[in-house]
Amino acid sequence: MSGQAFEVFTLFPDAVAGFLRGGLVGKAVARELVSVHCTDYREFATDRYRTVDDSPYGGGPGMVMKIEPVVAALEHVTALRGPMHRILLTPAGPRFDQRVAERLAVVPRIGLLCGRYEGIDDRVREHFVDECLSLGDFVLNGGEVAALAIIEAVARLREGVLGNPESAARDSFSLQDMSSGAGSEDHGAWLEHPHFTRPPEFRGHGVPQVLLAGDHADVARWRREQAWRRTWALRPDLRPQRTLPAETPLYLVAHFGQGAMDMSERAAWIAALAAAAREGGAELRVVAPNHRAPEAAGVPRAAQFRSLKDLARELRRRHGATPRLVALGPADDLPLARGAAPLLDLLAASGAGDLSAPLVLVLPCEAAGDLARPAANPPQGRSAPSSEPAKGLEAAFSPATGLASGLAETPSMKDSSGPQPVAAAARLVAVALAELKSRRSTNPSELRHEQQ
Ligand code: SAH
Repeated sequence: MSGQAFEVFTLFPDAVAGFLRGGLVGKAVARELVSVHCTDYREFATDRYRTVDDSPYGGGPGMVMKIEPVVAALEHVTALRGPMHRILLTPAGPRFDQRVAERLAVVPRIGLLCGRYEGIDDRVREHFVDECLSLGDFVLNGGEVAALAIIEAVARLREGVLGNPESAARDSFSLQDMSSGAGSEDHGAWLEHPHFTRPPEFRGHGVPQVLLAGDHADVARWRREQAWRRTWALRPDLRPQRTLPAETPLYLVAHFGQGAMDMSERAAWIAALAAAAREGGAELRVVAPNHRAPEAAGVPRAAQFRSLKDLARELRRRHGATPRLVALGPADDLPLARGAAPLLDLLAASGAGDLSAPLVLVLPCEAAGDLARPAANPPQGRSAPSSEPAKGLEAAFSPATGLASGLAETPSMKDSSGPQPVAAAARLVAVALAELKSRRSTNPSELRHEQQ
Protein backbone atom coordinates (compact mmCIF):
# COMPACT_ATOMS: atom_id res chain seq x y z
CA MET A 1 0.00 0.00 0.00
CA SER A 2 1.57 3.28 -1.04
CA GLY A 3 1.30 6.30 1.18
CA GLN A 4 -1.87 8.30 1.64
CA ALA A 5 -1.77 11.94 0.55
CA PHE A 6 -3.53 14.84 2.24
CA GLU A 7 -3.78 18.22 0.54
CA VAL A 8 -4.76 20.97 2.93
CA PHE A 9 -6.04 24.25 1.49
CA THR A 10 -5.79 27.06 4.01
CA LEU A 11 -4.90 30.65 4.75
CA PHE A 12 -2.63 29.41 7.55
CA PRO A 13 -0.33 26.79 5.99
CA ASP A 14 2.43 27.28 8.55
CA ALA A 15 0.17 26.58 11.50
CA VAL A 16 -1.11 23.37 9.91
CA ALA A 17 2.34 22.18 8.83
CA GLY A 18 3.80 23.03 12.23
CA PHE A 19 1.29 20.89 14.06
CA LEU A 20 1.80 17.95 11.74
CA ARG A 21 5.56 17.85 12.27
CA GLY A 22 5.10 16.35 15.73
CA GLY A 23 3.66 13.11 16.95
CA LEU A 24 2.81 9.94 15.12
CA VAL A 25 1.62 11.76 12.02
CA GLY A 26 5.01 13.48 11.79
CA LYS A 27 6.71 10.09 12.07
CA ALA A 28 4.37 8.63 9.45
CA VAL A 29 5.26 11.51 7.13
CA ALA A 30 8.98 10.92 7.74
CA ARG A 31 8.48 7.24 6.91
CA GLU A 32 6.48 8.20 3.81
CA LEU A 33 3.38 6.34 4.97
CA VAL A 34 1.49 9.59 4.76
CA SER A 35 2.17 12.85 2.97
CA VAL A 36 0.69 16.25 3.76
CA HIS A 37 0.95 19.31 1.52
CA CYS A 38 -0.39 22.67 2.55
CA THR A 39 -1.49 25.16 -0.08
CA ASP A 40 -2.12 28.82 0.70
CA TYR A 41 -5.18 30.24 -1.07
CA ARG A 42 -3.51 33.63 -0.93
CA GLU A 43 -0.92 32.57 -3.49
CA PHE A 44 -3.76 32.24 -5.98
CA ALA A 45 -5.20 35.68 -5.42
CA THR A 46 -4.75 37.74 -8.55
CA ASP A 47 -4.89 41.37 -7.42
CA ARG A 48 -1.89 43.24 -6.06
CA TYR A 49 -3.27 43.08 -2.50
CA ARG A 50 -3.67 39.32 -2.67
CA THR A 51 -7.27 39.63 -1.64
CA VAL A 52 -9.00 36.37 -0.72
CA ASP A 53 -12.20 37.72 0.83
CA ASP A 54 -14.95 40.13 0.00
CA SER A 55 -18.13 41.45 1.56
CA PRO A 56 -21.22 39.26 1.23
CA TYR A 57 -23.79 39.82 -1.48
CA GLY A 58 -26.96 41.01 0.15
CA GLY A 59 -25.07 42.74 2.90
CA GLY A 60 -24.53 41.81 6.52
CA PRO A 61 -21.54 41.43 8.78
CA GLY A 62 -18.31 39.60 8.06
CA MET A 63 -16.44 38.66 4.95
CA VAL A 64 -16.76 35.74 2.54
CA MET A 65 -13.88 33.86 0.95
CA LYS A 66 -13.81 34.46 -2.77
CA ILE A 67 -14.33 31.57 -5.16
CA GLU A 68 -11.52 32.33 -7.64
CA PRO A 69 -8.48 31.76 -5.41
CA VAL A 70 -10.06 28.64 -3.92
CA VAL A 71 -10.76 27.02 -7.28
CA ALA A 72 -7.41 28.16 -8.69
CA ALA A 73 -5.62 26.51 -5.76
CA LEU A 74 -7.58 23.28 -6.24
CA GLU A 75 -6.86 23.16 -9.95
CA HIS A 76 -3.21 23.97 -9.51
CA VAL A 77 -2.66 21.14 -7.03
CA THR A 78 -4.68 18.72 -9.14
CA ALA A 79 -2.53 19.47 -12.18
CA LEU A 80 0.64 19.22 -10.10
CA ARG A 81 0.04 16.08 -8.02
CA GLY A 82 -3.13 14.52 -9.36
CA PRO A 83 -6.85 14.43 -8.59
CA MET A 84 -8.13 14.02 -5.07
CA HIS A 85 -11.30 13.42 -3.08
CA ARG A 86 -12.32 16.97 -2.16
CA ILE A 87 -13.79 17.61 1.26
CA LEU A 88 -15.13 20.99 2.35
CA LEU A 89 -14.95 21.61 6.09
CA THR A 90 -18.09 23.32 7.26
CA PRO A 91 -20.29 23.22 10.35
CA ALA A 92 -23.17 22.57 7.94
CA GLY A 93 -21.76 19.21 6.82
CA PRO A 94 -22.52 15.70 8.07
CA ARG A 95 -20.68 14.91 11.28
CA PHE A 96 -17.22 13.38 10.97
CA ASP A 97 -16.93 10.18 13.02
CA GLN A 98 -15.07 6.89 13.17
CA ARG A 99 -17.20 5.36 10.38
CA VAL A 100 -16.22 8.26 8.11
CA ALA A 101 -12.58 7.91 9.19
CA GLU A 102 -12.69 4.22 8.24
CA ARG A 103 -14.17 5.09 4.86
CA LEU A 104 -11.56 7.77 4.19
CA ALA A 105 -8.67 5.56 5.32
CA VAL A 106 -8.76 3.75 1.96
CA VAL A 107 -8.92 6.92 -0.16
CA PRO A 108 -5.46 7.53 -1.68
CA ARG A 109 -5.64 11.31 -2.05
CA ILE A 110 -7.76 13.59 0.12
CA GLY A 111 -8.17 17.34 -0.25
CA LEU A 112 -9.32 19.30 2.81
CA LEU A 113 -10.66 22.80 2.18
CA CYS A 114 -10.51 25.07 5.20
CA GLY A 115 -12.66 28.17 5.30
CA ARG A 116 -12.18 31.35 7.32
CA TYR A 117 -14.38 34.39 8.02
CA GLU A 118 -18.02 33.58 7.27
CA GLY A 119 -16.96 30.68 5.10
CA ILE A 120 -16.27 30.09 1.41
CA ASP A 121 -18.53 31.28 -1.43
CA ASP A 122 -21.16 28.55 -1.57
CA ARG A 123 -20.58 27.79 -5.24
CA VAL A 124 -17.47 25.91 -4.12
CA ARG A 125 -19.67 23.55 -2.07
CA GLU A 126 -22.12 23.19 -4.92
CA HIS A 127 -19.76 22.56 -7.81
CA PHE A 128 -16.15 21.94 -6.74
CA VAL A 129 -16.13 19.44 -3.85
CA ASP A 130 -17.13 15.80 -3.39
CA GLU A 131 -18.45 16.04 0.15
CA CYS A 132 -18.76 18.26 3.21
CA LEU A 133 -17.76 17.32 6.74
CA SER A 134 -18.29 18.96 10.09
CA LEU A 135 -16.29 18.28 13.21
CA GLY A 136 -19.33 18.81 15.43
CA ASP A 137 -22.12 21.14 16.33
CA PHE A 138 -19.99 24.15 17.15
CA VAL A 139 -18.37 26.91 15.12
CA LEU A 140 -14.62 27.24 14.78
CA ASN A 141 -12.85 30.29 13.40
CA GLY A 142 -11.47 28.22 10.57
CA GLY A 143 -11.39 24.74 9.12
CA GLU A 144 -7.75 24.08 10.07
CA VAL A 145 -8.44 22.38 13.39
CA ALA A 146 -11.08 20.24 11.70
CA ALA A 147 -8.62 19.29 8.94
CA LEU A 148 -5.99 18.32 11.50
CA ALA A 149 -8.48 16.24 13.45
CA ILE A 150 -9.49 14.40 10.31
CA ILE A 151 -5.89 13.81 9.23
CA GLU A 152 -5.03 12.32 12.64
CA ALA A 153 -8.11 10.13 12.83
CA VAL A 154 -7.72 8.84 9.28
CA ALA A 155 -3.94 8.43 9.21
CA ARG A 156 -3.85 6.36 12.40
CA LEU A 157 -6.00 3.75 10.67
CA ARG A 158 -3.37 3.31 7.94
CA GLU A 159 -1.16 0.30 8.23
CA GLY A 160 2.11 1.08 9.98
CA VAL A 161 1.16 4.48 11.38
CA LEU A 162 0.45 3.20 14.88
CA GLY A 163 3.22 1.31 16.65
CA ASN A 164 0.83 -1.51 17.48
CA PRO A 165 -1.70 -2.30 14.74
CA GLU A 166 -3.99 -3.91 17.30
CA SER A 167 -4.57 -0.70 19.20
CA ALA A 168 -6.62 0.90 16.44
CA ALA A 169 -8.88 -2.14 16.27
CA ARG A 170 -9.47 -1.95 20.02
CA ASP A 171 -10.11 1.76 20.23
CA SER A 172 -13.42 3.26 21.14
CA PHE A 173 -15.90 3.38 18.24
CA SER A 174 -14.09 0.67 16.30
CA LEU A 175 -16.41 -1.97 14.96
CA GLN A 176 -14.65 -4.97 16.39
CA ASP A 177 -17.01 -7.47 17.93
CA MET A 178 -16.34 -8.27 21.56
CA SER A 179 -18.37 -11.43 21.56
CA SER A 180 -16.42 -14.57 20.95
CA GLY A 181 -19.21 -16.12 18.92
CA ALA A 182 -18.03 -15.89 15.35
CA GLY A 183 -20.40 -14.51 12.79
CA SER A 184 -22.69 -12.84 15.28
CA GLU A 185 -24.44 -9.82 13.94
CA ASP A 186 -22.73 -7.06 15.81
CA HIS A 187 -22.90 -3.80 13.94
CA GLY A 188 -22.43 -1.58 16.93
CA ALA A 189 -19.36 -0.04 18.43
CA TRP A 190 -18.01 0.07 21.97
CA LEU A 191 -16.33 2.70 24.04
CA GLU A 192 -13.04 1.24 25.15
CA HIS A 193 -12.39 0.06 28.71
CA PRO A 194 -10.40 2.46 30.94
CA HIS A 195 -6.59 2.33 31.16
CA PHE A 196 -4.27 2.63 34.15
CA THR A 197 -0.51 2.59 34.64
CA ARG A 198 2.00 2.97 37.49
CA PRO A 199 1.95 4.00 40.31
CA PRO A 200 -0.56 1.59 41.83
CA GLU A 201 -1.67 4.30 44.23
CA PHE A 202 -1.75 8.06 43.82
CA ARG A 203 -2.98 10.26 46.69
CA GLY A 204 -5.06 7.43 47.99
CA HIS A 205 -6.55 6.55 44.62
CA GLY A 206 -5.88 2.94 43.71
CA VAL A 207 -6.34 1.03 40.50
CA PRO A 208 -8.65 -1.95 40.03
CA GLN A 209 -7.16 -4.95 41.79
CA VAL A 210 -7.89 -7.29 38.92
CA LEU A 211 -5.37 -5.45 36.72
CA LEU A 212 -2.58 -5.97 39.25
CA ALA A 213 -3.29 -9.64 39.82
CA GLY A 214 -2.17 -10.60 36.32
CA ASP A 215 -4.75 -13.24 35.45
CA HIS A 216 -5.29 -12.71 31.73
CA ALA A 217 -8.74 -14.29 31.62
CA ASP A 218 -9.88 -12.14 34.56
CA VAL A 219 -8.44 -9.02 32.95
CA ALA A 220 -10.16 -9.80 29.66
CA ARG A 221 -13.48 -10.36 31.42
CA TRP A 222 -13.08 -7.14 33.40
CA ARG A 223 -12.26 -5.11 30.32
CA ARG A 224 -15.20 -6.51 28.42
CA GLU A 225 -17.51 -5.68 31.28
CA GLN A 226 -16.07 -2.17 31.63
CA ALA A 227 -16.48 -1.47 27.93
CA TRP A 228 -20.06 -2.68 28.19
CA ARG A 229 -20.74 -0.58 31.31
CA ARG A 230 -19.28 2.58 29.84
CA THR A 231 -20.97 2.24 26.52
CA TRP A 232 -24.40 1.62 28.01
CA ALA A 233 -23.95 4.34 30.62
CA LEU A 234 -22.53 7.00 28.31
CA ARG A 235 -23.30 6.13 24.69
CA PRO A 236 -26.08 3.53 24.46
CA ASP A 237 -26.73 4.81 20.94
CA LEU A 238 -23.54 3.11 19.76
CA ARG A 239 -24.77 -0.39 20.45
CA PRO A 240 -26.88 -2.56 18.17
CA GLN A 241 -30.41 -3.30 19.30
CA ARG A 242 -30.21 -7.04 19.81
CA THR A 243 -33.20 -9.30 19.78
CA LEU A 244 -33.92 -12.35 21.87
CA PRO A 245 -34.34 -15.29 19.48
CA ALA A 246 -37.93 -16.52 19.23
CA GLU A 247 -36.85 -20.01 20.26
CA THR A 248 -35.04 -19.00 23.47
CA PRO A 249 -36.72 -20.79 26.41
CA LEU A 250 -37.49 -18.44 29.30
CA TYR A 251 -37.50 -19.51 32.94
CA LEU A 252 -38.29 -17.72 36.14
CA VAL A 253 -36.73 -19.10 39.30
CA ALA A 254 -38.28 -18.40 42.68
CA HIS A 255 -35.17 -18.67 44.78
CA PHE A 256 -35.52 -19.35 48.49
CA GLY A 257 -32.56 -19.19 50.78
CA GLN A 258 -31.96 -20.65 54.21
CA GLY A 259 -34.42 -18.18 55.63
CA ALA A 260 -37.21 -18.99 57.94
CA MET A 261 -40.09 -18.16 55.62
CA ASP A 262 -42.96 -20.41 56.62
CA MET A 263 -44.73 -22.72 54.24
CA SER A 264 -47.89 -20.71 53.77
CA GLU A 265 -45.91 -17.57 53.02
CA ARG A 266 -43.75 -19.49 50.60
CA ALA A 267 -46.85 -20.85 48.92
CA ALA A 268 -48.16 -17.29 48.50
CA TRP A 269 -44.91 -16.27 46.83
CA ILE A 270 -44.96 -19.21 44.51
CA ALA A 271 -48.58 -18.66 43.53
CA ALA A 272 -47.97 -14.99 42.72
CA LEU A 273 -44.80 -15.70 40.76
CA ALA A 274 -46.34 -18.61 38.89
CA ALA A 275 -49.07 -16.28 37.68
CA ALA A 276 -46.58 -13.59 36.64
CA ALA A 277 -44.42 -16.15 34.86
CA ARG A 278 -47.35 -17.68 32.99
CA GLU A 279 -48.51 -14.23 31.95
CA GLY A 280 -45.02 -13.32 30.72
CA GLY A 281 -44.35 -16.54 28.82
CA ALA A 282 -41.86 -18.07 31.23
CA GLU A 283 -41.85 -21.38 33.05
CA LEU A 284 -41.55 -21.26 36.80
CA ARG A 285 -38.95 -23.25 38.70
CA VAL A 286 -38.42 -23.24 42.45
CA VAL A 287 -35.02 -23.47 44.07
CA ALA A 288 -35.02 -24.06 47.80
CA PRO A 289 -32.05 -25.60 49.57
CA ASN A 290 -33.95 -26.94 52.52
CA HIS A 291 -37.68 -27.50 52.39
CA ARG A 292 -39.57 -28.52 49.35
CA ALA A 293 -42.37 -26.26 48.30
CA PRO A 294 -45.83 -27.63 48.90
CA GLU A 295 -47.31 -29.15 45.76
CA ALA A 296 -50.47 -27.32 46.66
CA ALA A 297 -48.78 -24.15 45.40
CA GLY A 298 -49.16 -25.65 41.96
CA VAL A 299 -45.51 -26.42 41.39
CA PRO A 300 -44.85 -30.06 40.58
CA ARG A 301 -41.95 -31.80 42.25
CA ALA A 302 -40.12 -31.95 38.94
CA ALA A 303 -39.98 -28.17 38.88
CA GLN A 304 -38.33 -27.92 42.29
CA PHE A 305 -34.57 -27.98 42.85
CA ARG A 306 -32.22 -27.83 45.78
CA SER A 307 -29.73 -25.55 44.06
CA LEU A 308 -29.24 -23.45 40.97
CA LYS A 309 -26.59 -25.91 39.93
CA ASP A 310 -29.09 -28.77 39.92
CA LEU A 311 -31.52 -26.65 37.95
CA ALA A 312 -28.84 -25.66 35.44
CA ARG A 313 -27.90 -29.31 34.96
CA GLU A 314 -31.52 -30.25 34.31
CA LEU A 315 -32.02 -27.38 31.82
CA ARG A 316 -28.84 -28.29 29.99
CA ARG A 317 -30.09 -31.86 29.66
CA ARG A 318 -33.51 -30.69 28.49
CA HIS A 319 -32.38 -28.07 25.95
CA GLY A 320 -28.91 -29.22 24.99
CA ALA A 321 -27.46 -25.79 25.79
CA THR A 322 -25.93 -24.26 28.88
CA PRO A 323 -28.52 -21.93 30.43
CA ARG A 324 -27.70 -18.26 31.02
CA LEU A 325 -28.47 -17.35 34.62
CA VAL A 326 -29.41 -13.78 35.43
CA ALA A 327 -30.35 -12.31 38.80
CA LEU A 328 -33.53 -10.26 38.83
CA GLY A 329 -32.81 -7.03 40.67
CA PRO A 330 -29.41 -5.65 41.64
CA ALA A 331 -26.85 -8.11 42.99
CA ASP A 332 -23.48 -7.45 44.53
CA ASP A 333 -20.58 -7.81 42.12
CA LEU A 334 -22.72 -8.71 39.14
CA PRO A 335 -22.85 -6.22 36.28
CA LEU A 336 -26.30 -4.65 36.45
CA ALA A 337 -28.15 -4.31 33.16
CA ARG A 338 -30.86 -1.68 33.41
CA GLY A 339 -33.11 -2.80 30.62
CA ALA A 340 -33.47 -5.77 28.31
CA ALA A 341 -31.34 -4.23 25.56
CA PRO A 342 -28.16 -3.88 27.66
CA LEU A 343 -28.86 -7.29 29.21
CA LEU A 344 -28.97 -9.06 25.85
CA ASP A 345 -25.93 -7.10 24.75
CA LEU A 346 -23.99 -8.17 27.82
CA LEU A 347 -24.98 -11.81 27.41
CA ALA A 348 -24.03 -11.73 23.74
CA ALA A 349 -20.70 -10.07 24.45
CA SER A 350 -19.65 -12.42 27.21
CA GLY A 351 -19.44 -16.14 27.42
CA ALA A 352 -20.56 -18.10 24.42
CA GLY A 353 -22.47 -15.19 22.97
CA ASP A 354 -25.37 -17.54 22.33
CA LEU A 355 -28.71 -15.88 22.98
CA SER A 356 -30.75 -18.93 22.04
CA ALA A 357 -29.69 -20.86 25.16
CA PRO A 358 -32.32 -20.95 27.94
CA LEU A 359 -32.53 -17.62 29.74
CA VAL A 360 -33.14 -18.02 33.45
CA LEU A 361 -34.24 -15.09 35.61
CA VAL A 362 -33.47 -15.79 39.24
CA LEU A 363 -35.59 -13.91 41.77
CA PRO A 364 -34.42 -13.93 45.38
CA CYS A 365 -37.49 -14.44 47.51
CA GLU A 366 -35.73 -14.41 50.85
CA ALA A 367 -32.24 -14.49 52.30
CA ALA A 368 -30.57 -15.81 49.21
CA GLY A 369 -27.08 -15.91 50.62
CA ASP A 370 -25.82 -18.35 48.04
CA LEU A 371 -26.58 -16.01 45.15
CA ALA A 372 -23.87 -13.54 46.07
CA ARG A 373 -20.43 -14.21 44.75
CA PRO A 374 -17.98 -15.86 47.11
CA ALA A 375 -15.89 -13.38 49.07
CA ALA A 376 -12.73 -15.20 48.09
CA ASN A 377 -11.06 -11.96 47.09
CA PRO A 378 -10.91 -8.98 49.41
CA PRO A 379 -13.44 -6.39 48.25
CA GLN A 380 -10.80 -4.11 46.75
CA GLY A 381 -12.46 -2.17 43.98
CA ARG A 382 -16.14 -2.88 43.77
CA SER A 383 -15.88 -2.34 40.07
CA ALA A 384 -13.38 -5.11 39.76
CA PRO A 385 -15.02 -8.48 40.16
CA SER A 386 -12.22 -10.95 39.98
CA SER A 387 -13.94 -14.28 40.40
CA GLU A 388 -16.30 -16.25 38.22
CA PRO A 389 -19.86 -15.34 38.94
CA ALA A 390 -21.04 -17.58 41.73
CA LYS A 391 -23.33 -20.41 40.70
CA GLY A 392 -23.01 -19.36 37.09
CA LEU A 393 -24.95 -16.12 37.48
CA GLU A 394 -23.69 -13.82 34.75
CA ALA A 395 -25.53 -10.58 35.28
CA ALA A 396 -28.19 -8.76 37.20
CA PHE A 397 -31.21 -7.38 35.39
CA SER A 398 -33.48 -4.50 36.32
CA PRO A 399 -36.08 -3.43 33.82
CA ALA A 400 -35.56 0.08 32.47
CA THR A 401 -39.12 0.84 31.54
CA GLY A 402 -42.63 0.93 32.89
CA LEU A 403 -43.61 0.79 36.54
CA ALA A 404 -40.23 2.24 37.48
CA SER A 405 -41.83 4.06 40.38
CA GLY A 406 -43.53 0.89 41.53
CA LEU A 407 -40.17 -0.80 41.62
CA ALA A 408 -38.87 1.23 44.51
CA GLU A 409 -39.08 -1.89 46.62
CA THR A 410 -37.36 -4.11 44.09
CA PRO A 411 -36.12 -7.15 45.94
CA SER A 412 -32.40 -6.87 46.14
CA MET A 413 -29.92 -9.54 46.99
CA LYS A 414 -27.99 -6.97 48.95
CA ASP A 415 -30.81 -6.60 51.37
CA SER A 416 -32.38 -9.96 51.55
CA SER A 417 -32.57 -10.40 55.26
CA GLY A 418 -36.27 -9.96 55.72
CA PRO A 419 -39.26 -11.12 53.74
CA GLN A 420 -39.85 -9.17 50.53
CA PRO A 421 -43.23 -7.91 49.52
CA VAL A 422 -44.79 -10.44 47.19
CA ALA A 423 -46.70 -7.93 45.13
CA ALA A 424 -43.61 -5.86 44.33
CA ALA A 425 -41.74 -8.98 43.29
CA ALA A 426 -44.56 -10.14 41.02
CA ARG A 427 -44.66 -6.68 39.45
CA LEU A 428 -40.91 -6.76 38.89
CA VAL A 429 -41.23 -10.13 37.18
CA ALA A 430 -44.07 -8.89 35.00
CA VAL A 431 -42.17 -5.83 33.84
CA ALA A 432 -38.94 -7.77 33.27
CA LEU A 433 -40.69 -10.41 31.19
CA ALA A 434 -42.64 -7.79 29.24
CA GLU A 435 -39.39 -6.03 28.41
CA LEU A 436 -37.78 -9.23 27.23
CA LYS A 437 -40.87 -10.03 25.19
CA SER A 438 -40.62 -6.67 23.45
CA ARG A 439 -37.13 -7.67 22.34
CA ARG A 440 -38.18 -11.06 21.00
CA SER A 441 -37.54 -11.60 17.33
CA THR A 442 -40.53 -12.84 15.41
CA ASN A 443 -40.87 -16.56 15.38
CA PRO A 444 -39.94 -17.79 11.90
CA SER A 445 -42.64 -20.49 12.01
CA GLU A 446 -45.30 -17.89 12.81
CA LEU A 447 -44.09 -15.90 9.84
CA ARG A 448 -44.49 -18.92 7.63
CA HIS A 449 -48.05 -19.34 8.84
CA GLU A 450 -48.84 -15.74 8.03
CA GLN A 451 -47.46 -16.07 4.55
CA GLN A 452 -49.61 -19.08 3.72
N1 SAH B 1 -20.70 31.31 9.13
C1 SAH B 1 -20.46 29.92 9.20
C2 SAH B 1 -19.28 29.58 10.07
C3 SAH B 1 -17.98 29.96 9.44
S1 SAH B 1 -16.65 29.54 10.45
C4 SAH B 1 -21.69 29.26 9.77
O1 SAH B 1 -22.32 29.83 10.63
O2 SAH B 1 -21.95 28.10 9.40
C5 SAH B 1 -15.33 29.63 9.34
C6 SAH B 1 -14.81 28.32 8.82
O3 SAH B 1 -14.45 27.49 9.87
C7 SAH B 1 -15.78 27.53 7.99
O4 SAH B 1 -15.75 27.93 6.66
C8 SAH B 1 -15.29 26.13 8.15
O5 SAH B 1 -14.28 25.80 7.21
C9 SAH B 1 -14.63 26.15 9.50
N2 SAH B 1 -15.46 25.54 10.53
C10 SAH B 1 -16.10 26.15 11.52
N3 SAH B 1 -16.75 25.28 12.30
C11 SAH B 1 -16.53 24.08 11.79
C12 SAH B 1 -16.94 22.77 12.14
N4 SAH B 1 -17.73 22.54 13.17
N5 SAH B 1 -16.51 21.75 11.38
C13 SAH B 1 -15.72 21.96 10.32
N6 SAH B 1 -15.29 23.17 9.94
C14 SAH B 1 -15.68 24.23 10.66
